[in-house]
Amino acid sequence: MCENDTYVNFVAKVGAALAKSNRITIEGLTLCTIRFIKSILMQKFKLCSYWVLATMLLMSALAHAQQRPSKHAKVKNIILMIGDGMGAAQVFAAYTAQKGQLHMTNFPVTGFSLTQSASHYITDSGAGGTAIATGTRTYNGAIGVDMNKQPLTSILEIAKQNGLATGFVVSCAVTHATPAAFYAHQGSRAQDEDIAADLLKTQPDVAIGGGYKFFAHRKDGRNLIEELKQMNYQIADSTADLSRYTSGKLVALMAYGHPVKVSAGRGELLAKGTQTALNILSQNRKGFFLMVEGSQIDWGGHDNDFDYMLQETIDFDKAVGIALEFAKKNGNTLVIVTADHETGGLALTEGNIAEGKVGGKFISKDHTAVMVPVFAYGPGAEAFAGVQLNTDLFKKMLNAYRFKK
Ligand code: MG
Ligand code: ZN
Repeated sequence: MCENDTYVNFVAKVGAALAKSNRITIEGLTLCTIRFIKSILMQKFKLCSYWVLATMLLMSALAHAQQRPSKHAKVKNIILMIGDGMGAAQVFAAYTAQKGQLHMTNFPVTGFSLTQSASHYITDSGAGGTAIATGTRTYNGAIGVDMNKQPLTSILEIAKQNGLATGFVVSCAVTHATPAAFYAHQGSRAQDEDIAADLLKTQPDVAIGGGYKFFAHRKDGRNLIEELKQMNYQIADSTADLSRYTSGKLVALMAYGHPVKVSAGRGELLAKGTQTALNILSQNRKGFFLMVEGSQIDWGGHDNDFDYMLQETIDFDKAVGIALEFAKKNGNTLVIVTADHETGGLALTEGNIAEGKVGGKFISKDHTAVMVPVFAYGPGAEAFAGVQLNTDLFKKMLNAYRFKK
């Protein structure tokens, strides 16, 4: 009996540990145990029966441990996509114009983000970007700093500290408020040259957008292009074919200032840039963080130019399609599409989905307070359902990676 007791104890312990570590339902184990105890009480079994039962118990526990799938696949990569100024009306305008064929409205999980800043009911893109990037609400105009102008660590910086590849692709200057909130720490969004210098401190692997002048023609006389080259960055300009770049570090400044409107010939900067960033960043075995911004949806809103807003939203959705395609193949990639705020107070006043015709009116030349959509796809996507603070997006990304701040 002694020998059997030892073995049975061992089996029970292993079973319990497996049950605990895998959170397996213990009904099966309990049933076996009850039968086993019953058998002891009834003294019906010979010694070998104990062995058979105990072994069955162990095998059952092991089978449970192996068969049970994890709650969801591990999140290795996050692609965060921000349509600047993209409220529900902007999304539905693009949906209508595309005759119901939009990538972002096909995402399985949807929610809303509350966009208010610490200083204002209506946020700007500095505070809005900082809230999403760092999980802290701050004053309008801030770039990666809190109410006391102290630096806040961004999700991009935390990803980098954890050994992941990092990058961003935008259709504005790379120093503009939204991308800046992910790598820079400045009191004001107007400090483009200081923000450009911060890019060399944070050193994301990939930065694609415009803003060459803030790197090359500066008041302090520094030539950040030369400094970047010395740091082994490949530098691409407006003449470059982005698909040429498949590895290494890349800063692509595709315009002197802001890239032009997509309707004025910007081409596939956002979609091609997203594909290039994915090609480069996905080579890191630990994973990556990529932020993609449809920057000029907001500018169409500020101009109360319906067609400008519409073409930029459709252009952004093409990049969403590239990200989604990557995520579907990859399996460990979480894609989140959202906005920092709505711009223009847009209402859709006429349209026909079958014909792809849509029209609307703006009631403001500025941002509005309304909550904005959140679309999520991939492992951990369900965490982004419901109504959440803009700062929750940061916290949920951190949880998805299983990083500690
Ligand atoms: Mg922006
Ligand atoms: Zn704006």
